[in-house]
Amino acid sequence: MTQKEIWYETLHTGFGQYFSVEKVLYREKTDHQDLVIFENPVLGRVMALDGVVQTTERDEFIYHEMLTHVPLLAHSAAKKVLIIGGGDGGMLREVSRHPGVEQITMVEIDGTVVDMCKAFLPNHSQGAFDDPRLNLVIDDGMRFVATTEERFDVIISDSTDPIGPGEVLFSENFYQACRRCLNEGGILVTQNGTPFMQLEEVRTTAARTDGLFADWHFYQAAVPTYIGGAMTFAWGSTREGLRRLPLETLRQRFRDSGIATRYYNADIHLGAFALPQYVLQAIGKQDND
Ligand code: SAM
Repeated sequence: MTQKEIWYETLHTGFGQYFSVEKVLYREKTDHQDLVIFENPVLGRVMALDGVVQTTERDEFIYHEMLTHVPLLAHSAAKKVLIIGGGDGGMLREVSRHPGVEQITMVEIDGTVVDMCKAFLPNHSQGAFDDPRLNLVIDDGMRFVATTEERFDVIISDSTDPIGPGEVLFSENFYQACRRCLNEGGILVTQNGTPFMQLEEVRTTAARTDGLFADWHFYQAAVPTYIGGAMTFAWGSTREGLRRLPLETLRQRFRDSGIATRYYNADIHLGAFALPQYVLQAIGKQDND
């Protein structure tokens, strides 16, 4: 019996997770990062970049539903959406389920990630790359938001961690450029790490978004393979109040959307913004207002 290959995540030192590898489907050092897609008996197909789990077939729905339906249902009339990163296509799939969205621009730095996820993670995009509303741009998201003349209603930063090509997507320049690219009433949400293990990430993002947006905060969801506790998402909106809509309003919007989900619902939407004390203290807030 051959010894099964084991893949170890190298995001944290001294603490981590491992996956048994049933089969390596693709592996390449692209121009930007070390890409591997493999099969695991528990989580299905797994994609990792530079030794960090990016997405798995089994738990991706939690992350993709929370980073799309929270801003889109809070906004309720978004027509133009920008996705930064998101090469696996899961975010694109969930955004494309909103019929009111007229244009989706996706700026992904690594074309190989898109090509290989289309080939080996088809359940992520489920054909969304063929959506006529999609404008796929292979470029650095920082360069795009710094130079585009376009404006967006919702911007979703679905990036890797702030190491390597993803680092610039956590910079002050990036948040300022995203703010510049938002229409009135626009919302920015970003992947912002697991604060139990990466508390500095929320602290830094808070300092960089405070004063930039009419309302800024974070919300959370536990994604099993983003280890170390709840994953945190940064929220920045150009209008007060979009984060604290009445529950009945959100329930009605969710019902009217006709979108069937496996994680998101209106109660989860509102509850996700209730941050624990240690995270509130890290971001310099007294409470969840
Ligand atoms: N769900 C994952 C997470 O929370 O870490 C993110 C998954 S998605 C695959 C991350 C994507 O960000 C990758 O495809 C990577 O190529 C892309 N990316 C990293 N840096 C980027 C940049 N500067 N501009 C655009 N895309 C970038």
